[in-house]
Amino acid sequence: MNPLPSSTGKIWLVGAGPGDPDLLTLRAARLVMGAKVIVHDGLVDPRILAMAPASAKLVSVAKRRSRHSMPQDEINALLVSEALAGRDVVRLKGGDPFVFGRGGEEAEAARAAGVTVEVVPGISAAIGAAAAAQLPLTHRNAASVVSFVAGQCKGLSEQNWAGLAGHGRTLVIYMGLANADPIADKLMADGLAPDTPVAVVENAARPEMRVLRGPLAGLGTLVKDHHVVSPALIIIGAITALEDNNLAMAVEAEA
Ligand code: SAH
Repeated sequence: MNPLPSSTGKIWLVGAGPGDPDLLTLRAARLVMGAKVIVHDGLVDPRILAMAPASAKLVSVAKRRSRHSMPQDEINALLVSEALAGRDVVRLKGGDPFVFGRGGEEAEAARAAGVTVEVVPGISAAIGAAAAAQLPLTHRNAASVVSFVAGQCKGLSEQNWAGLAGHGRTLVIYMGLANADPIADKLMADGLAPDTPVAVVENAARPEMRVLRGPLAGLGTLVKDHHVVSPALIIIGAITALEDNNLAMAVEAEA
């Protein structure tokens, strides 16, 4: 008979950042390099997984939109059972675990099972995209408010974004690609000008990054014409036009 494990393992909810391994925190890098079990989602860059020891058990619970993924309950149960079996688990997530990462649900499941959980922050896609594409999310001349919202199909019409975009504000939309047209319509119905500047950042902070710009009214067409693929962010507001040196115009158009 196997002896009972002497102690329960710990669950680490670890942010893997937007892609480039250089953008991991040192704590995240140390945890990946010392991991025995890694449970990761589909957004985690293969270069980061390659940092794990050859002996580590890697479990993918891929959560990319419209691909097969493990239901959240099963992920929670897997994390808890590994920890109860005495193994420390590194739960690796794209970006930050607590920004649209369901880290909250996993932390709750761990606590409910009496398992210790620690959270290691990561660079969320919005922060990575801002740096890589040189789009300052706030700017003294253009935006003093920044909001992050989820733009996936379910519940889009029920979400209240009124006041989150427009003059002096930056709105960053995660998971909005498949919904680009309804998102533009929703924002215009809330009063945003059709020529409000917009940027779409595909594969932010990765070698294949693309940054596309246009007016809000053309968002759906921009996404379609350029065959934008996931993962991508939609960023709305004057700061997306800074690079073109037409900030003054953009701010004027929004006013
Ligand atoms: N926890 C993650 C977000 C997960 S939700 C974070 O903090 O970044 C998944 C969404 O994040 C994707 O649909 C996309 O909108 C965005 N995303 C994640 N990585 C990205 C990247 N490298 N470039 C652009 N968008 C990204």
